[in-house]
Amino acid sequence: MEDNNEINDMVNNFNSESNYEQNEEEEEDNINMNQINQIFHYNPAEYENDYIINKLFEMQILKKEPICEKCGGKMKLENDNQYLDKKVWRCRSKNPKHDVKRNIRVNSVYEIFNVPLFILYFLTFECFSLNKKINKSLIDIKDLCSQLGKPATTKRVIIKLFRALREKLRIFMHKDWSNNPLGSEPAENGVPRIEIDESEIIGNQNNKIWMFSLIDRVDKEARVFCVMNDRTNENLLPIIERTVLTNDIGNNWNLKTRIYSDCYASYQPNDFEERGYILHRVNHSVWFGQGLFHTNTVEGLWSKIKRLSNNFSGITMNYVNELQNEEINIKNYFDGWICYSLFQRHIEKNHFATTESKIYLSDFLKIN
Ligand SMILES: [Zn+2]
Repeated sequence: MEDNNEINDMVNNFNSESNYEQNEEEEEDNINMNQINQIFHYNPAEYENDYIINKLFEMQILKKEPICEKCGGKMKLENDNQYLDKKVWRCRSKNPKHDVKRNIRVNSVYEIFNVPLFILYFLTFECFSLNKKINKSLIDIKDLCSQLGKPATTKRVIIKLFRALREKLRIFMHKDWSNNPLGSEPAENGVPRIEIDESEIIGNQNNKIWMFSLIDRVDKEARVFCVMNDRTNENLLPIIERTVLTNDIGNNWNLKTRIYSDCYASYQPNDFEERGYILHRVNHSVWFGQGLFHTNTVEGLWSKIKRLSNNFSGITMNYVNELQNEEINIKNYFDGWICYSLFQRHIEKNHFATTESKIYLSDFLKIN
């Protein structure tokens, strides 16, 4: 009974202050409306064609003042309504006589698309760089286009663009990795220490696709490769050899690069010794968390990659088969996803603001 009285008191109290309650609700509504207006308001001037084109020239995503292939002179930007972008590079001369036109998108990541540049720009720098998913990106681009009174684009275009952007990241990163092997920065009073491990990307009982990672314990630099279903020594050892410095100066055992793997892998210490490394196999049940003998760094990397790629965007084996039928290189496809996660990892690690993330992405998309 006492409980009931308490509830009655509460109801009575609220009733007596019903006006106050109503006002509070109205205030809440106003706050929500303001938030919505803030989030979805775009400045049309920033998506105007000339403005976007100049921006892309400045960012070097489109090539500025390309060289004429006929005379070697600088081409001039002209208005031309025959082109989707209403602009074209042109060179006309009498000696030698020629009139050459060049699409402003040539060699850029946008070359294979025939949707307006403001749409591609928005999807690249307001969606992809901020790790927005496909569906959220579609909602946002539709919203922008409806505010601008222009036709929007399709999910298909977004998927194709994001795939092309991931491919750019892959090409850039893999090239960078081949020039910068791991193991050049030894730990203080120590030797370079690299953890290696394999993790499943996707799979079913018949077929699995794996990734293989090597990560430096000191600077947390990571190299991650899709190795398809081949986790044999024959496939992985050459990757280790070209990715990790041996630090084998003067054949001094004490200076050799240490490589840590877990015990489940089939690596043989001899194979590593022959290549100038020292392999430590970590038995989780005995050594986990003890001193230098652990693979915690690479375990942390796996969870980051899986989270940042949204578990590889929930791709299924059936989808992989579809991609294969479209003659898409599956290894490159997954390497693209891996590189995208590493890109997002860098943004997270450095606490990049939105603008910094855009600049960081534009570095990968530069045309030269
Ligand atoms: Zn010329």
